[in-house]
Amino acid sequence: MSKGKILVVEDEVSLARFIELELTFEGYNVVVAHDGKDGLNMFEKQKYDLVLLDIMLPGIDGMEICRRIRKLSNVPIIILTAKDGVSDKVTGLDSGASDYITKPFAIEELLARMRAAMRHVQTFDVRINSIMFKDMVIDTDKRMVHVAGIAVELTKKEYELLLYLVKNKNIVLTRSQIFNKVWGYDYLGETNVVDVYIRYLRAKIDEKFGRRYIFTARGVGYYMSDEK
Ligand code: CA
Repeated sequence: MSKGKILVVEDEVSLARFIELELTFEGYNVVVAHDGKDGLNMFEKQKYDLVLLDIMLPGIDGMEICRRIRKLSNVPIIILTAKDGVSDKVTGLDSGASDYITKPFAIEELLARMRAAMRHVQTFDVRINSIMFKDMVIDTDKRMVHVAGIAVELTKKEYELLLYLVKNKNIVLTRSQIFNKVWGYDYLGETNVVDVYIRYLRAKIDEKFGRRYIFTARGVGYYMSDEK
């Protein structure tokens, strides 16, 4: 029986491999990512008991990963810092890391810190009922939306429209698809209601946060895009 599932995000391949072998030998189930983006993607896909996170990573750096993970979960995070990275330690703990360990480290010390970090946390994990998109988190239990950690107040229809777009991200949805899904065939109001509500959402999200979430497929409909 596995002692727990560990996500290792470390771009030094030989160090990552070493950690993977040692932890596997100790009875952990280990998943390795070699860059920040992969690490975050892997985190979003499944549940982990602990994350070992390097700070200097290609793609998204460790601090940013730490902050993003914290919006979703209180999984223990141990950051792996370079020798003199004192400021990394402080920033890491500020970003929500549980602990840090300085490279190079003895595997016994890492194992001890992992055990301690996992003992101290009763993992809550909200992801089963939440959806992440860029820096947006939709809590589908509470029907709450946060962008960059800030709550966004949406009406019922705005929320349903947003959810439909996010669930079908990167797919162009026609006005009639959106209309039928969000308002239903029985709706007797104006048919331009889709465009009106897209405008409402853009005002509350895209314009307010200065990022593009909702794209227009001219003459067809709308879509949420992973594009920046
Ligand atoms: Ca590194």
